[in-house]
Amino acid sequence: MAERILLVEDEEKLARMVEMELKYEGYGVEKAADGRRGLELALGGGFDLVLLDIMLPQLSGMEVLRRLRRESQIPVIMLTARDSVMDKVAGLDSGADDYITKPFAIEELLARIRAALRNKNGQGEENVPLAVGPLVMDVEKHQVTVRGRNVELTKKEFDLLRCLLENKDRVLTRETLLDAVWGFDFVGETNSVDVYIRFLRSKLDDTFGLKLIHTVRGVGYVIKEES
Ligand code: CA
Repeated sequence: MAERILLVEDEEKLARMVEMELKYEGYGVEKAADGRRGLELALGGGFDLVLLDIMLPQLSGMEVLRRLRRESQIPVIMLTARDSVMDKVAGLDSGADDYITKPFAIEELLARIRAALRNKNGQGEENVPLAVGPLVMDVEKHQVTVRGRNVELTKKEFDLLRCLLENKDRVLTRETLLDAVWGFDFVGETNSVDVYIRFLRSKLDDTFGLKLIHTVRGVGYVIKEES
């Protein structure tokens, strides 16, 4: 499944150029042109990495990073026009994973993105089983169990469940799920998501008498334990 990058950048020309390059490399990309919107999207989940400009309208990149870090350990690469040591130190202190100074070569940005994603995955995140209640997913083994019993899932069902589990307790829109599981080149109906959610419910909730996958009317879906 395509890794998704959130690009928070108010310089439209630069944002468009970076977006094009990232898509060409096979990443999914969403853009925000101000700090407030960027923070909102980042907190909404569904991304693997954030590219965050420092000088932004509404909320500065530093403030976005500070607030994001209260809730999320998603890799963040700061984009800074100011080549000052202060910015770099402040950025790394606030929890940025890396920074790159504008103007930058796209190859360098791509290399830093690959490194940040590798680090994220290398920290064992891929090996830690994703879980909600009695349901456990082992990504490495491509295995899902409920109370220790194996559940057979198709590739799409597995990817969809993985996306939900990675964003446990967070409501994901159909569009986010569609992008994450089917990719941006998917042509079809967003109700594919609903169809596959039904398959998952049948194999998980119905089979085991659970209520893990919840519909949030008019918004999308969330996986969480019954409360
Ligand atoms: Ca800027």
